[in-house]
Amino acid sequence: MIYLYTLPGTAFNMPQLSVPLLKGYLKECKIKSKQYDLSSRFLEYCFKKEYIKEISLQYYLSLSESDKNIVDNIEKAVKQMQTKLIDTDKIVSANEQIQKYLEILSKYYNIKWGRRGIDFSKKILTVDDTIELAFDEKNTIFDKVLENTHKLNDGDIIYLSIQYPFQLNYALRFSKHLKSKSNNIKIILGGDYITHINKNLNEIMQKCIYIDGMTLFGNYNNVVEMIKLFQNKKVSNINNIIYRKNNKIIYKFNKQNDCFYKNKYIPDFSDLNLNKYLSNLKLIPLTLNYGCYHSKCMFCSRYYYYNGYSTYNINKIFSYLKELYNNEHIEAVYFIDECVHPDILMKLADYLINNNIKIKWMVETRIDNKYTDKNFAKVLYESGCREISFGIESYNKSILKDMNKGIDLKVAKSTMKNFYNSGISISATFMIGYPTENILNIKRTLKFIKKFKYLDTFGLSIFSYMRNSKLVNLSNLDEEKDLNLIYRTTNDKYSTYINIIDKFNNTKKIKRFVSNRQKILYRSEYMYLDRNYYSLNYRSDV
Ligand code: SF4
Repeated sequence: MIYLYTLPGTAFNMPQLSVPLLKGYLKECKIKSKQYDLSSRFLEYCFKKEYIKEISLQYYLSLSESDKNIVDNIEKAVKQMQTKLIDTDKIVSANEQIQKYLEILSKYYNIKWGRRGIDFSKKILTVDDTIELAFDEKNTIFDKVLENTHKLNDGDIIYLSIQYPFQLNYALRFSKHLKSKSNNIKIILGGDYITHINKNLNEIMQKCIYIDGMTLFGNYNNVVEMIKLFQNKKVSNINNIIYRKNNKIIYKFNKQNDCFYKNKYIPDFSDLNLNKYLSNLKLIPLTLNYGCYHSKCMFCSRYYYYNGYSTYNINKIFSYLKELYNNEHIEAVYFIDECVHPDILMKLADYLINNNIKIKWMVETRIDNKYTDKNFAKVLYESGCREISFGIESYNKSILKDMNKGIDLKVAKSTMKNFYNSGISISATFMIGYPTENILNIKRTLKFIKKFKYLDTFGLSIFSYMRNSKLVNLSNLDEEKDLNLIYRTTNDKYSTYINIIDKFNNTKKIKRFVSNRQKILYRSEYMYLDRNYYSLNYRSDV
C-alpha cells in the first residue's frame, strides 16, 4: 500500500493541498493510496481539556487561573470555530482562545508556535542541527500523532510531504520510528521545502539511512516513477529525484527534462473528514494552475518549486468541485494558486453561476489590465468571490521595475477600487527595505497604505532574501550552509525597518486594524466574518 502523510503544520482551517493533490494524481495513474492528515489528527487528539493534564499535571497546576480557564474550555472554543452560525464576536474570541491554548501548549515544549511555523529554542541551520533536534528526547510535541495507527506490511511505501522548514525534523523522527517497526518499507520525502533545499539532499541521504528517496519540484510524475522503482517495476523517464540503490546514493537533477501531465492534477479529499477543521464554513483548498504565469519577480522563490508554468485541465477541476458541492456540501474554497490568470477566474465565475453552485471563495493573484473593467469584479462577486489578494509590494514605479514586478500602479488602484466597491474584500501585500529602496520610497509606500481608501486588509513585510530567488542567485549567499528559506541576517538595516513598521502600526488608523487582525487566525475567515470588524476602511454605515 502507498501511505501519504501531511505532517503536522500550524494551520487547522483546511487540509494542506499537496497530499490530496498527490492522492488524486496517483488515482489518475491507477495507483491506490491512503492519506492521513497529521495536523487534523493533532487537533483531534490534543485540543481536549484533559490533554495538558495528561502530559503533565504539574504543568497544568502551575498555570495561572486564566490559562487554566483556556485549557478547561478548549473544546468549546473548537466547537465555536466550527459552528455554522456566524457571530463575529464569538468567533474572534474563540480564535483568541485557540491562539492562547497553542501558546500554553508550546511553552511546555519550549517552542514558539507562530502562524507561519514553529520556532525552536536553538537555531537550526544545518543538517546536523536538524538531526540533533529530531532525536532530542524533549522534542515530543507531535509524538502522539506520529505514532502510526495502521499496520505496516513489507513493501509498503510511505510518502511524507514537507512544506515548511520546521517540519523536516519531525519527518526524520517519524521516518526512523516507522523503520524501527518494519525495515521492509520504503520512505520517500517530497514537498516544497525538500525542493528548496536540493543542495543539501545528498547530505541528508548520507546521514539519514532510514530515508529511501526524495522527489523534487511539484511534478508528481517523479513520485509515480519512484514508486515504480521501489516496486521493481519498469521505469520510463525519471528525473529530479535522489534515492538509495545498493548502498549508493543516486541523484538525478535535471531541470530541463521533466514530463508534465496537466490532466492528472485533480485532488482527492476522500480519506479526510472535512468537518473536523477549524472553519465555520466547510472549506477546501484547490488550485487552478501550476505555478505562476508571471514567474519573473526578482525577490520571489515561489515559482522555483514548479520548474515551469502550466494551466491544469480546469473543466475536470470544475466537475470535481461540483461533485464536492453536491455530495460533500462544500461551502467555501480557497484557491491557493501562486497566481491565477483573469481568464481562468472568469471561466470559474461563469461555471459557478451557470451551475448554481453557491459557495464562497477567495484567491490570490496579480494585478492585470483586465480587472479595470468594473463588470469583472461584479461577476466574480456574483459567483461567490469574497476575498481577493494582490501583491503590490511598493508604491514606487522605479522599485517595481527593479523587482521585475510587471504591474502598473494606476491599474493597481483602479483594480482595487473596482473589487472593493463590488463587495469583495481586498487584500494587498507590501514590502519595505528592497535593496534599491531609500527612505523616501518607504515613506511613499506606507503613506499609500494609510491613505488609499479601497483596501480591507494588508500585509507589510521587510524584504528578505528568499532561497532560490533570482536575487539570491545573484548574491554571494551560500545556500548550502543555511537550511532557512529566508535569509534575514544579510539585511543589515533589519532592526531599522522593524522600528519603522512598529511606528507605522502605532498610528491611530492602523493600530485598530492591526489589533483586530492579530486576533484572527486564518485569512479564510475574512470570507465570512463581519467586514466592519476587520477592514481597514470599510464601514457599512458610511
Ligand atoms: S511574486 Fe507573485 S507574481 Fe511575482 S513571480 Fe512570485 S508568484 Fe509570481
